[in-house]
Amino acid sequence: MAEQVLTAVRTGPGRTEFREYPMPDIPEDGALLKVEVAGICGTDVKMYAKPMIEGPVIMGHENVGVIAKAGREFAARQGFAEGDRVFVEHYVPCHRCEWCHLGEYRHCEATDWRTNADARRYGYTSADNPYHLWGGFAQYLYLPWNAVLHRVPDSVSPELAGIVTPLSNGIEWTLFDGGVGYDSTVLIQGPGQQGLAQTVAAKQAGASLIIVTGTARDAARLALAKTLGADHVIDINAEDPLDRVREITGGKGVDVVLDCTAGAGTAPVLLGIAALKRRAGTLVIQGELAAFPDFPVKTVTEKAITIKSARGHSYRSCELAVAQLESRRFPLELLTTHAFGLNDVDKAIRSVGGEGDGVVHVSLLPWS
Ligand SMILES: [Zn+2]
Ligand SMILES: [Zn+2]
Repeated sequence: MAEQVLTAVRTGPGRTEFREYPMPDIPEDGALLKVEVAGICGTDVKMYAKPMIEGPVIMGHENVGVIAKAGREFAARQGFAEGDRVFVEHYVPCHRCEWCHLGEYRHCEATDWRTNADARRYGYTSADNPYHLWGGFAQYLYLPWNAVLHRVPDSVSPELAGIVTPLSNGIEWTLFDGGVGYDSTVLIQGPGQQGLAQTVAAKQAGASLIIVTGTARDAARLALAKTLGADHVIDINAEDPLDRVREITGGKGVDVVLDCTAGAGTAPVLLGIAALKRRAGTLVIQGELAAFPDFPVKTVTEKAITIKSARGHSYRSCELAVAQLESRRFPLELLTTHAFGLNDVDKAIRSVGGEGDGVVHVSLLPWS
């Protein structure tokens, strides 16, 4: 009998089934990754509760592993060989369109499941497609010729490798979208894995003031934000965050606000607009709000605010994230609070969703 690959398949809202698929016969331009770690984030929580893709889906879009088999053409094209340890971006772009040529392949139609029913994106692609293994909650992952890979040094532990994605988002949103750099003043709202990654990115970039907000539930995470470089933390349930930001900045406000509150409504956006400096600040948002009644367009215009939307990461931010992990400059292992085996995938996703204590980042280790 052919070798089988164990996978965790989402078959409906909040429902996981364990399935075996035959080990695929890889073509000359394909490869197979033995999954070492799949990071789990807030998007998994949402997509697990309310799937937006038809059919059985192997979730897991933040994947690191070792290339177990590589076709000749794959190895030649990619410059990677069997035995190499890599981070696999979840985008599987066409490499032909304008976005791909610009290096902005996260916008490529071939990987956008929202607009393209035949899109390929790890964790968001039906397992009914050829090769089946399109998500990291499995022992193996299929790599086509157009997968985007980054080398991961052996000195980075599996758990740390699991945070390449939030860290690359942190670098993308803080540095490239927010423009944070030397002497910047920054307000980061929400001390989850994403907000903490932004804290590290802002610190590394040279920000002179980093303020992180959270709620009464976030005491441990706010303490962690301070350990990672935040200058001030604000519990918004205990004090008025705008008053505090004004007090800390001597009434000036901050250069950049990053909203990492994930679905906390309009309040963080309004706070961000109010907390920005008098002119030409930048607000980076990633809201899920379908509508925003009474949006203060007048204030945004008067303050000449630039609003940017956080959309994933770029090749460069992934490379910088891996370098950041390798450098050990920050105690990022403090983020990696939980790890689960494949059998506990349901529990792992629910713990990211707020069940259990002290959860910051959760990794799935399919072989443990
Ligand atoms: Zn994610
Ligand atoms: Zn493309």
